[in-house]
Amino acid sequence: NYVRVQELLFQKNRVIGVCVKDEITGNETDLFARVVVNATGVWADQLHSSKYNGPHIRPLRGSHLVFPFWKLPVSQAVTLRHPADKRPVFVFPWEGATIVGTTDLDHGEPLNSEPRISFPEIEYLLDIVRYQFPSVELERSDILSTFAGVRPVIGGSKKRPSSEKRDHSIWEQDGMISVSGGKLTTFRLIAQDVLRVAAPLIPSVEERGTPDPPFNKRKGDELPPISLNHFLRRRLEGRYGSHVMHIMQTEMNEDLERIPGTNTLWAEVRWGAREEGIMHLDDLLLRRTRIGILLEKGGTGYLDRIRDICRQELGWDLKRWEAEAASYKKLWEECYSLP
Ligand SMILES: Cc1cc2nc3c(=O)[nH]c(=O)nc-3n(C[C@H](O)[C@H](O)[C@H](O)COP(=O)(O)OP(=O)(O)OC[C@H]3O[C@@H](n4cnc5c(N)ncnc54)[C@H](O)[C@@H]3O)c2cc1C
Repeated sequence: NYVRVQELLFQKNRVIGVCVKDEITGNETDLFARVVVNATGVWADQLHSSKYNGPHIRPLRGSHLVFPFWKLPVSQAVTLRHPADKRPVFVFPWEGATIVGTTDLDHGEPLNSEPRISFPEIEYLLDIVRYQFPSVELERSDILSTFAGVRPVIGGSKKRPSSEKRDHSIWEQDGMISVSGGKLTTFRLIAQDVLRVAAPLIPSVEERGTPDPPFNKRKGDELPPISLNHFLRRRLEGRYGSHVMHIMQTEMNEDLERIPGTNTLWAEVRWGAREEGIMHLDDLLLRRTRIGILLEKGGTGYLDRIRDICRQELGWDLKRWEAEAASYKKLWEECYSLP
């Protein structure tokens, strides 16, 4: 969380650790390990020595449009073929809104700045919705927000971005294992493959017989008897697992209300601020909760209430709050709204 690996530490041409910098405090420290795994996704190329001769990442941007659900109501995910290039594009319900995405093109921007959708991508995504659902008559002005991500695709020789394989790769150089590419859905397989490559480097660590199940059932009591419909209960249990009891046991009854237009409870914002390592306001509104993507104008209409939560839970004074709110609004305008 805001701790960046600045450089690799070598001994006799082998990676033996990393030098990290806490970007909040500015403190730097060296960390040593028997095996260093570079799992930095699309940034994997930035952590190689100058002699590096392994695979390279081809950063491919994928962008999305978010619509209010009532504007584009789909009861489940649908896959559409874009008429222009026959790529699959998804339209799916998400957190009470509807998402259309994604695109797939060479990113071509610095990797250390937040990605954003481009004008042609907006038109590309609107085209497919208009083509498939002409009666909806979607306009740019219907778009609630946008967001983009950059895929770590292992670069091959393909001309078209969408022809590149999405498989993960693992490679070792100078004693450091790098892993990149692949899918979220194959996370466990990828982790097991990395451990297999790491095993000979740490022979003293024994393989355990039966793997633990990746997800455990929530143990403990039922949720408190508050009026939440079945869907909202399941959503909370799915997101927070065994923490859900703590989230619901709030002393503030108004925290158990939904934030209008979303399925997110105010209690989740408080929980995020209290427990989920928030350093900046955008951590809370865009990543721990998603209300910055789900609410009109990034949720700026609710900033007074969010300010009170941040001041209570994070101890931010007014000056800090104002700085956080200003940089959040700037980020939202630049990267989550329409260009
Ligand atoms: C638009 C889009 C659509 C996608 N669709 C799907 C899909 O439908 N299904 C699917 O399964 N997958 C999908 N993916 C792929 C999936 O999101 C990625 O493959 C996955 O997130 C890669 O995980 P990772 O852990 O390797 O990298 P990341 O999730 O990117 O994690 C890398 C981490 O390393 C950190 N880091 C980078 N540099 C440093 C440094 N120097 N020091 C410290 N930390 C550092 C970063 O902050 C980041 O937290 C999609 C990706 C995108 C962008």
